[in-house]
Amino acid sequence: MKLEVHNLSAGYAKAQVLFGLSLEVAEGELVALLGANGAGKTTALRTVSGLIRAWGGSVHLNGQSLAGISAARRAKLGLGHVPEGRQLFPLMPVEENLLLGAAFLAWEHRAAGLEYVYALFPRLRERRGQLAGTLSGGEQQMLAIGRALMGRPRILMVDEPSLGLSPKLAEEVLQTLAQVRSEGMGVLLVEQNVALSLEVADRGYVIEHGSVVLSGSAAELSGNPQVQKAYLAL
Ligand code: ATP
Repeated sequence: MKLEVHNLSAGYAKAQVLFGLSLEVAEGELVALLGANGAGKTTALRTVSGLIRAWGGSVHLNGQSLAGISAARRAKLGLGHVPEGRQLFPLMPVEENLLLGAAFLAWEHRAAGLEYVYALFPRLRERRGQLAGTLSGGEQQMLAIGRALMGRPRILMVDEPSLGLSPKLAEEVLQTLAQVRSEGMGVLLVEQNVALSLEVADRGYVIEHGSVVLSGSAAELSGNPQVQKAYLAL
């Protein structure tokens, strides 16, 4: 399975944010999407997942065009999205939040999903009955990722997972994404902590003003003087 984004444009009302964005994510690779505040990273994820409408260009999943396909249907086709700000249901227990991520799957898949997520995040198993709103920031991030994994995505897009987390927890969460990548999932990661994201990523794209200005392997990007100056504060 492969996600192919070609020449995508999108925005809000009359404000255009994406200007011909192109990128690819295949199964089994972790791809970082880098860029300054306001470059359009979140908008890119929201457009690909179908939460906002594309103005032009194309998004293909496994060769199939996603034009006119709803966000819910895209999730069923294998596209997972962990949105910025997590979007959990604070007054529902952990396990209910997880099950909502797989509401469209048969019961046996939901049960298997819970086992998978609890194995990945044992902390969530311990707290399965606790209200999501009372979890720590790190636990909430685990829950948001776990909920997306419940839908059995083949390609998972994750927006700013380390936001508000201690360096240790941020590392832990990113290592978990590296692990699901190693199991064959494709991961598209938007991450404020560029150094950390290039540590776990295979490849990356740098976007400015809504289009890609630089791409390469994580090693190439880490060694690039422009990237070092703008994002790694070297
Ligand atoms: P950050 O790292 O700061 O989250 P980003 O690269 O993810 O930045 P976006 O969130 O995609 O950037 O925002 C791109 C531009 O779109 C910004 O100028 C932002 O103000 C604008 N924008 C984002 N959401 C909306 C909205 N709902 N309505 C209008 N403008 C928006």
